[in-house]
Amino acid sequence: MVTTTVSGMIGLRERLRRPLGLVPTMGYLHEGHLALVRRARHENQTVVATIFVNPAQFGPSEDYATYPRDTERDLKLLGEEGVDAVFVPPVEEIYAPGHRTYVDVEGFAARLEGAHRPGHFRGVATVVTKLFTIVRPDTSYFGQKDGQQAIIIKRLNADLNLGTRVVVVPTVREPDGLALSSRNVYLSPEERRAAPVLYEALRAAKETWRKGETSGERLRQAVRDTVGKEPRVELEYVSVADAETLEELCQADRPAMVSLAARLGSARLIDNVILSKTDETQ
Ligand code: AMP
Repeated sequence: MVTTTVSGMIGLRERLRRPLGLVPTMGYLHEGHLALVRRARHENQTVVATIFVNPAQFGPSEDYATYPRDTERDLKLLGEEGVDAVFVPPVEEIYAPGHRTYVDVEGFAARLEGAHRPGHFRGVATVVTKLFTIVRPDTSYFGQKDGQQAIIIKRLNADLNLGTRVVVVPTVREPDGLALSSRNVYLSPEERRAAPVLYEALRAAKETWRKGETSGERLRQAVRDTVGKEPRVELEYVSVADAETLEELCQADRPAMVSLAARLGSARLIDNVILSKTDETQ
């Protein structure tokens, strides 16, 4: 079942069996998205996916207009995975004329990705709040690939009592380690060959930490040293931050997220790993 209107989705949500799992996406689906769908399928009576390229989370010089889209293929893939309903709203349905309300998760929305993409998480938090309100999922599924986004959504869900359970699914990777991303289509063949250095660098930091190094700066340096081997890759930032508050750490003496953003030609890619004695998601 496909619906393009808010009223259609609200009508559906009342008829669908519970528990209901929600998988929000911007479409152009790959195995990373499908891992979320499969987890949702496994844990719920009903799975709802959404496809919406959210203009509010793109900056004026970003790739909103050129973001890859293939809704027909997406719907086929979601059908094959047994998704019960897909919400594919046009922009005016989510941001109706006169729309003025935005959701700001203060503090950590301005760090890392937020510092490099002003307004990005305001757009994400707003659309996710709206999707939670429209679909009212029992559980919603997000990828560790967008680690900061997952942390912010958990905060938002708790702060606004949105009442869904937020599940974070491990990052799905290519055999050479590159995290799957809709934006990987922007890579030229040479850039694609260089791109696995990002995960290699994150693994180097994790390996350094496993051997007992907790200095945030030394762990960040391990990432820089590895990425430095690839002249095509321009590191935008590297961070070792508290895995809950995103506070940058001098000492990784508690669960931490090592994250980075890098440019390869016209593509901007992000990735992360978690440093935690208990979290073995990656
Ligand atoms: P997007 O369509 O890029 O907005 O992604 C939709 C959801 O899929 C988000 O929760 C992402 O974190 C998740 N996702 C994207 N790529 C991956 C991946 N490689 N592995 C796991 N989850 C992913």
